[in-house]
Amino acid sequence: MPSYNCTSCGAPIEVKNRFSKVIVCQYCNTHLKVGDNGLDPAGKHPKLADFPSIFSVGCRGSILGKPFTALGRMRYKYDGGFFDEWFMEYDGETAWVTEDEGACSLYTDLFEAADIPDIGSLKPGQNITVGDKRIMVKEKGTAVVEGGEGELGFYVEPGSKITYVDGISDGKKVSIEYTENEIEFFIGRPLLKKDIAVEGQ
Ligand SMILES: [Zn+2]
Repeated sequence: MPSYNCTSCGAPIEVKNRFSKVIVCQYCNTHLKVGDNGLDPAGKHPKLADFPSIFSVGCRGSILGKPFTALGRMRYKYDGGFFDEWFMEYDGETAWVTEDEGACSLYTDLFEAADIPDIGSLKPGQNITVGDKRIMVKEKGTAVVEGGEGELGFYVEPGSKITYVDGISDGKKVSIEYTENEIEFFIGRPLLKKDIAVEGQ
């Protein structure tokens, strides 16, 4: 994978995953967009507060018996506190693990769906159809992107507001995130403590 230098502080930056869209310089915290011709600065943002997590950027281990490397995380602030989304290389693919007060879910299928219903009209308990999937809406809420760390395959600028919907489809967890520009649709499963093993812990 290509190597670059931070456009702000000059530190060497290595892009580890070809799906990464943004890298956060670990020295000066400048957010850098990965483009065809190198890195584009997307602003400097404060370093994330260090909340306890079983993961850290660069850590490796296994989830459900398959290897992972944690590449980076995005943090969101909502009424109930904070949650993190970890961008991972997982068994040769990319995946997201959400972590909310120690409760983790693994999302391996991510797709952009065009025909997702208007967020404003969605209510908990309602059934909606997205593509060929029937989804029962469990929760709807808003969050603000606090910032990022490491390498990210999905990026929303800090300070942006997102609306999220959590639901269930076919016994699987479904998470839909609406930003100003994009709708991301994830399918996943909750993880138990025993499903996750981190090297060195
Ligand atoms: Zn830098």
